[in-house]
Amino acid sequence: MRQTSSGTILRLERSSIHDGEGLRTVIFLKGCPLRCAWCSTPEGWLPGITETETASYGYIMTADELLAEIVKDEIFFFHSDGGITFSGGEPLCQAEFVTDVAAGARKLGISTAMESSLCYPWQAVEKVLPHLDALYADLKHIDPEQHKFYTGQDNRRILENIRRVSDSDLPLQLIIRMVLVPGINDDEATLRQTGEFLQSLHNLTRVELLPYHRLGVGTYAKLGLRYRLPETKAPSQPELQRGKAILSQYINNIK
Ligand code: SF4
Repeated sequence: MRQTSSGTILRLERSSIHDGEGLRTVIFLKGCPLRCAWCSTPEGWLPGITETETASYGYIMTADELLAEIVKDEIFFFHSDGGITFSGGEPLCQAEFVTDVAAGARKLGISTAMESSLCYPWQAVEKVLPHLDALYADLKHIDPEQHKFYTGQDNRRILENIRRVSDSDLPLQLIIRMVLVPGINDDEATLRQTGEFLQSLHNLTRVELLPYHRLGVGTYAKLGLRYRLPETKAPSQPELQRGKAILSQYINNIK
């Protein structure tokens, strides 16, 4: 079947080792409903191409054109058990395009993953899911009010979508990713509440605890945006280990 939809891509990153198994070609897509205070890709927030006086962010490709690019990396996928990962922005903003590309990649024997906040209507999630081998769901903050304060929206839809994915019988890996941000989501009460939620999920492959970082801060100035966490520092190894130790009381597989 010919793939015809088109999407707006922020950038392609080849041979990534941080976004799934093996070497991955990561497709960063434009558009996101959230505004996380620690976001490292604010240039991906707006849908479509973003133009500033000095830069242009985004370009349009058809699913066929993107698949032709992806196939160039096939040899790396083959030797590393890698594949493609949709990221963003929020890939679900372009669910039809992601579905077409993921289905096309699968037909070529290429493994597919998506990193998403799942802050999107379930209709979009269920359209994409059958074409994925792995879903990386980003959990920003377990408390609805805190989530709203730091991302612009509460987390009710996100938690519900995570639960629906974990309850589904689709043969895909569900990995929960959480960026540990000092002073925001690393206190004991928040981590324990997070642990209880994760423990209640039926099918959870693993949890990945990631340290907050300040990459991307410079882009805010270029876009004329204010970075909301000017004083926040990356967590130390002991702080990360402490977070992992608390979550480990609820779930086993934490990376
Ligand atoms: S969901 Fe991701 S892309 Fe969107 S604002 Fe948050 S960190 Fe940035």
